Amino acid sequence: MPPVTATPPHDADARRSVRPVICYPNDTLPPVPLVLYQSARQGASKIDEVLVNPRDAACFHAPQGHFFRISSVEGPQVGDLNLWNADDLAERFYSGKTRALHGTHITTGERMWSSFPGMRPMATITHDTLNWYGMDKFGGSVHDVIGTRCDPYTHNLLAGGQYHHCCHSNLTGALSDHLGLSLGEAEPHVHDVLNVFMCTGFTRDTGQYFMKASPVRPGDYLEFFAEINILGALSACPGGDCSSEHSSDVASCYPLKVEVFAPEDGALTGWTPPPPNGYDRSHGR
Ligand SMILES: [Zn+2]
Repeated sequence: MPPVTATPPHDADARRSVRPVICYPNDTLPPVPLVLYQSARQGASKIDEVLVNPRDAACFHAPQGHFFRISSVEGPQVGDLNLWNADDLAERFYSGKTRALHGTHITTGERMWSSFPGMRPMATITHDTLNWYGMDKFGGSVHDVIGTRCDPYTHNLLAGGQYHHCCHSNLTGALSDHLGLSLGEAEPHVHDVLNVFMCTGFTRDTGQYFMKASPVRPGDYLEFFAEINILGALSACPGGDCSSEHSSDVASCYPLKVEVFAPEDGALTGWTPPPPNGYDRSHGR
């Protein structure tokens, strides 16, 4: 049997000590007009509210140029968020590219980017009451784009059995109900999430994905500006605050509230909606 660990070369330490470079320096991204957004938010009025029940999911619409807020109510709870272009479900949130552009966790002034070929901002975070948290001593932070979503397939692989209230199934069911699709039609539209309020990181020793009790408390919220017409789905994860386990009925779970706000007429003067990505798609052929 071959040795598990390969023999280090003579210059192993030198190779390890090479300094990292940032893959995607993001200072050439289109600037975020946060001052304009925040002033447009001042006079905005609420037009819709959706309560997401514990261990379940619900859909909501946020028209282009509106704001949507996800709030903790009743108790600490994390949410798994999917976003689609409401006019074309093929354009959807791209967690991996958002991570490449902004890092493992996102907060005020950062954006949720869409899949190829659109690859444009779908939503911009305009307010985050948890942005005081920063990065803790374990390497944990909130609102990650590193997790995928709890799902019944991984649960079955690792623990066996059929657990149905995972975020993946909740999102599938909510989209199915909302659009009148069969579960089989809805499921492929469900994608990797923004983990709202979840506190996560990677262990330094083994690089494993970890979670810990979310610092969220009732009254905390994450608010977004909808850059395009958005259909969203939010699952109130069966992990509750994710302090112990998910994919079970053990954790205490609470609802999450989604509110949608319309700005006053003229409040967005000077704002330009994001065009689809400018790459010509000829792929050198
Ligand atoms: Zn979950």
